Amino acid sequence: MRNEDGEKIVLCFDRDYTVSVNPHPDERAVPIGWLQYWAHELEIPVWATGNQHLRTEAKIPGIREAEFAWKEYVDGGEYEYDDSQFEDYWQPRRRDGLRIVRDVYESTYPDEDFRFVVVDDVDVSDLSEEGPWTHYFPWDFVEAVENGEFALDEPPEDAYRNDGVPFNSTDDPDFSHEKQRELQEIRTDLHEHPVPSKGGTN
Ligand SMILES: [Mg+2]
Repeated sequence: MRNEDGEKIVLCFDRDYTVSVNPHPDERAVPIGWLQYWAHELEIPVWATGNQHLRTEAKIPGIREAEFAWKEYVDGGEYEYDDSQFEDYWQPRRRDGLRIVRDVYESTYPDEDFRFVVVDDVDVSDLSEEGPWTHYFPWDFVEAVENGEFALDEPPEDAYRNDGVPFNSTDDPDFSHEKQRELQEIRTDLHEHPVPSKGGTN
């Protein structure tokens, strides 16, 4: 799916105070059914880049799938978090997760133009200084979709559940990396058009 500038859209969603499974008390949240519809019906890349429970709730890939794709398919070595917020914490932080998703796509498809859309209740609009990122607050995003100002249409009302009750809210993955559609696509495309590995001697 491309926007009007011909850029391929990759969607990244935070969870808490962003998606309907844990909405902001005073603001509108993105219905989880929208993510599921875009990911599973339209087969648009949709990634969980905040609280990783969203991976299992929406059955979409997240940070560990991005790290897996980087290591197994793209680079052959562990992903190194540059400019990282990671150093001060024991696991990757939101900008780290967003950067690795971007790196996976841009390394896999060096000739493609991408638009990375991040929906997060925390302002990460500064990422637009380092790449083709567009940040939306969830409430602005919902309005943009409803008003037809965003490249993707609002899914049909009955497409997927849109309520806020978390289901299967566990961080235990009930799917394997290999079965993820996005990862399969990346692996297949890399197999057909290998790219030189980015730095390192792995
Ligand atoms: Mg949040």
